[in-house]
Amino acid sequence: MIRTMRAAIALTLLLAGAVAGGALLAGGAHAQQTPPAAQPATPPAAPPPVDFSKVEIKTTDLGDNVYMLEGQGGNITVAVARTGIIMVDGQFAPLHDKIKAAIAAISNLPVKYVINTHYHGDHTGGNEGFAKDGATIVAHVHVKSRLAAGTTNGLTGAKTPPAAAGALPTDTYEVFSNVRLPGRVADLKHIQKAHTDGDTYVWFKTANVLATGDTFTNGRYPNIDFANGGNISGMIAATDTYLKLTNAKSRIVPGHGPIADRAALIEYRAMLVTARDRMAKLVKEGKSEADVIAAKPFADLDKKWAPTELAATNFIRVVYNSLAKPVDEKKSLLKRLLKRS
Ligand SMILES: [Zn+2]
Ligand SMILES: [Zn+2]
Repeated sequence: MIRTMRAAIALTLLLAGAVAGGALLAGGAHAQQTPPAAQPATPPAAPPPVDFSKVEIKTTDLGDNVYMLEGQGGNITVAVARTGIIMVDGQFAPLHDKIKAAIAAISNLPVKYVINTHYHGDHTGGNEGFAKDGATIVAHVHVKSRLAAGTTNGLTGAKTPPAAAGALPTDTYEVFSNVRLPGRVADLKHIQKAHTDGDTYVWFKTANVLATGDTFTNGRYPNIDFANGGNISGMIAATDTYLKLTNAKSRIVPGHGPIADRAALIEYRAMLVTARDRMAKLVKEGKSEADVIAAKPFADLDKKWAPTELAATNFIRVVYNSLAKPVDEKKSLLKRLLKRS
């Protein structure tokens, strides 16, 4: 009972972090978010918890035995090999059985690998359950350290407690890696400082399917986790990498939003570049976060990319914070000053 309660509390905290941080930007969770806070410094109240019993998993066939699964949280990619399955991201822990059932409808082979595109709970919540089923959890090394240490959401101040030991990736890498099963190769590569400081994209070359994690949100503003190493310049660099990798026939599984093609990625990149350039100018002029929110620098973009006013404000804030002094830099500057005095 206590265990269950603890798990429920942990889950609520996890959801608060993920949802308030805009990690569910493109999901249905937007309607449940609280209205924008009057002052950005005031963290908005935690959104109501998601009723996981109502979530349905939708499967889309991407060809060559690769599938996209949508439920609640980040999109999942499932790639079937001859002896097992490679899965990219695993949504939330309570959806484990539903995700398993959706996979069983595709193939009766076991999930051998779960690759985390980054540490956010709407992508890594499934780790513990699938690890218990026998899967190896693969991720960039920063995913493991952030999950193990716990994190703070830069937008809301909400804290996510350290993850259970059984939820941590057991196979980590730094620059690039691959996961192989007979008849299937997944190429993994790290994109530096983009959505977080531990992003991985996964390229299933023979299937021409790319899983981007939250470096790409299709049709919506992305979240940029600036407090945990994210930066809009890295987001743009990620799209450049993806444009080199893909062709007109590629299927692109975004972190959130519907299945995408190269044209959607090009449009998304153009939006990011516009936002970055406009914000860089305001930062150079010495504008504060409150100033730039009041200036509504992305008003013309909001219609297409922001489903709510909160989403519009959050995007201004994350772009501003990733271009104004990064948090890590501020901390090290403070350290240097303290050392000197
Ligand atoms: Zn995320
Ligand atoms: Zn996400």
